[in-house]
Amino acid sequence: MDLPTPPTLAKIDKISPSFYNAGLLCKAKAAWQKFGVRQSMPASTGSILGSCLHAVVERGNRGGLSPGREGIEQAKIAFDAEAKLRFSEAHPLIRAKFASPEKIPFYFQRRARAVVLAVQVSTEGEPRSPSPPQGDPAPRAFGGRSSRLVEQSFTSRDGLITGRIDLLDSGVGKVTDYKSGHASKNVPSGLADTEVRQLRLYIHLALENGYNITRATIVRGDGNECEIQISASQAADEAQAARALMEQFNGLVSGGCSFSSLANPSAKNCAGCPCIPFCEPFWKTAQPDWEELCGTNAEGEISETKDISLAGATLKTLTLDCRQGSTLRGQLTIEQIPLAWLSLGSSVPALGSAVRIVLAARSTSAPQIRVLQVDRIKSTTIWNLSIAPPQQ
Ligand code: SF4
Repeated sequence: MDLPTPPTLAKIDKISPSFYNAGLLCKAKAAWQKFGVRQSMPASTGSILGSCLHAVVERGNRGGLSPGREGIEQAKIAFDAEAKLRFSEAHPLIRAKFASPEKIPFYFQRRARAVVLAVQVSTEGEPRSPSPPQGDPAPRAFGGRSSRLVEQSFTSRDGLITGRIDLLDSGVGKVTDYKSGHASKNVPSGLADTEVRQLRLYIHLALENGYNITRATIVRGDGNECEIQISASQAADEAQAARALMEQFNGLVSGGCSFSSLANPSAKNCAGCPCIPFCEPFWKTAQPDWEELCGTNAEGEISETKDISLAGATLKTLTLDCRQGSTLRGQLTIEQIPLAWLSLGSSVPALGSAVRIVLAARSTSAPQIRVLQVDRIKSTTIWNLSIAPPQQ
């Protein structure tokens, strides 16, 4: 595949929780979230299934599911329809890796969880008719205002903070955000710092819009729920910090900073960053001991290729002289890459080509092993450097 071009930067006029959280670690990552051409990179399968969960739970929260078995079937159909749509719009590599959305690992498990959650929230989302229409039913009234606001965008009074809240229920005085993934094992409180910051900004937005709310909850796809109380001053302080970050970002952009000059590479900051394939500061800085956090990412020149044919498909094994990245330097073998994965760019990497292998699979419990595999679940990608776009 050909590397995407880093985003062209511009000043922002409001800041969202996701930009704020990304920008605290690395302003280049935040800039990609805001200005990057997302379709040029394959999304993780987890994010595709996460969007399906959100669509089904949103329908439940709008009271759009019937009681009992009928509602379960409606939720399954809604999940499948969203998956089909997301899959049809997905990057070609996703469609080369999986023949259909149902082939995505854990599809049926994630669907079952989403259905349970959607049906559960639907029973709370009064009123419902026995056979609700596809459209949005009227929300329950509370104190003369809508009690349940679903997927509603809010802006602070000064217009600088913005956010789309999954569910704001003024009847019970709570905002809720749904996450498709599990809580991190390293977070004993059940909420990551990023999640606490996001919830604080949501409470700030709720208060600024006249909703007297101090409870905030994260509900995960597996049904786990973690609630915290957030005071108005905690929310206001977080919002002030977000405004300061926005001002700093805009100052850097006005001063002519590029994507690369905003980058702040470190093992912690770059872990899970979608920009790794094209982020030059990452490749210049990453070290083998970043592998545990950032995954196995290798850049080098191909010194040998071997093809085998298996069940009618060509699989290529590449030997790479790794010169930089978050893994061992020197000779690495990347086994049995489907030719279909390598054929999505303007040329298939060949002997002498420089490539980047991002998120390869390797047992980190045996750190000296020099044989890597490509992995559909880990979202391994192979990028052809011979036609690298100009860096900004
Ligand atoms: S890879 Fe690292 S340095 Fe580059 S944008 Fe992402 S977080 Fe920033």
